[in-house]
Amino acid sequence: MGNLVLVLVFSFGFLFSCQKHKKPLPNIVMIGIDALRPDHLGIYGYPRPTSPNIDRLAEKGVVFENAYSTAPFTLPSVISVYTSLYPSAHGISFDYFPSWERVEYLKENNLFQFLAQAGYQEVIFSNGWANALKHMLFNLKTDLEFKGMSGDARQLSDLAINWLDKNRSRKPFFMFLYYLEPHTPYQPPERYLEIFSFKQKRKRANLSFCLRVNRNRDLLEEDTLQELVNLYDAEIRYADEEIGRVINKLEEERLLDNTVIVIWADHGEAFQEHGYVCHSVKLYREFIQIPLIIYLPDNPSPGRRIKEYVSHIDIMPTLLELAGVDLPEKIQGKSLLPLIQGRVKREFKARKVFAELSYDLVYFPYSAFKPGFQKKRKKTAGPECKYVQSIISPPWHYIWYKETGREELFNLETDPEERENLVEKYPELAGRLREILKEHHRQNAQLAGVDVFGPPNKEADKEILKNLDREVINQLKSLGYLR
Ligand SMILES: [Zn+2]
Repeated sequence: MGNLVLVLVFSFGFLFSCQKHKKPLPNIVMIGIDALRPDHLGIYGYPRPTSPNIDRLAEKGVVFENAYSTAPFTLPSVISVYTSLYPSAHGISFDYFPSWERVEYLKENNLFQFLAQAGYQEVIFSNGWANALKHMLFNLKTDLEFKGMSGDARQLSDLAINWLDKNRSRKPFFMFLYYLEPHTPYQPPERYLEIFSFKQKRKRANLSFCLRVNRNRDLLEEDTLQELVNLYDAEIRYADEEIGRVINKLEEERLLDNTVIVIWADHGEAFQEHGYVCHSVKLYREFIQIPLIIYLPDNPSPGRRIKEYVSHIDIMPTLLELAGVDLPEKIQGKSLLPLIQGRVKREFKARKVFAELSYDLVYFPYSAFKPGFQKKRKKTAGPECKYVQSIISPPWHYIWYKETGREELFNLETDPEERENLVEKYPELAGRLREILKEHHRQNAQLAGVDVFGPPNKEADKEILKNLDREVINQLKSLGYLR
């Protein structure tokens, strides 16, 4: 009898737990947009019509007003999104490979692997850098992929829409889309430029223009700067229209009732707020603040604005929680679901978010692993564009330039443009934040097996190269990382 009761209890328990997961797993569509700063989107208050489609989706979703990237350029920040680790903890930057042990760990412990294990059908259509990343370390399962470093938003959306037409099975799907617009070269189709400017002479601006401006510390004429902004805005509008086509397709297929959509950027973009253009060179707010918009079916509070400070590292745990996957122990991010649902906020109250720059990108990094590259580095935008670390402990943003020891402290609430350096006014606060920053990086270097703020570890690099698949090495060569 006792056994029977036990069996019944177990059966009920089992049934109940099945019941709990009866709701089908949601599809997940992740839409990355390279170098998109939030304040150029309507939903973040921009007055120009750059983003009607993203805005419409955001009105039904939740909008994070204080979301930050972990680094001001693609490679480390996107790997943070894939792994929920800060760059100095995953160890992947342009100057460094992490230890091989770390690579093995990252290959098994990333968003794509976790979702594949949870039964997701995965498809990645990626343009630009995020595409290159797949080949660097992750042996990802993909149905199809979009290769090429200079594709086009229209092609990307066509691939996504065709896939939704033909390949969708009964399994939940995870679609990863990565748009290169509005990254340089700014060269929007003419019809989009006409929305923002009819008369401008400059129809495109490429990366070498940015590098030249940053290297020479040129201050651009107001008209030139405005032309750049017009091009950038037109590129955003182009990406937005194409993203709108994908959203419409999801709607037509009646998938929006069971699909989570995440819109995010890998970093921001500067227009000489602190003398620089484009990205990669500093950690001021214009370089690291990103849009983060999450659309969920059955959202209890459509249009909710969330003010807590969040980071790239929080995206993976949020998606894993939605997919019913137990959160891995060794991640650094937190699931944003409590914030989205308006529940517990306590753990976010004292939240600190970090950003890092361990590479001087005044020179473009394609040739980072080529011999002789170190010599070229002498001509840079200055010592303070490398080995920079920052911590946001709201409302404070503290930036530490490791090479010169210089520090900056800004109050993001009273001085969001970061004009007044308060280090001398609050030396103790600055000292405390510096210590937190140092400890954070000490722990991360241990995790990564390499210190991305220290001298390059040539032995570790050799070990990595010895262990990489031949296919990956060929990819690295074709992308110019290796000779
Ligand atoms: Zn980028």
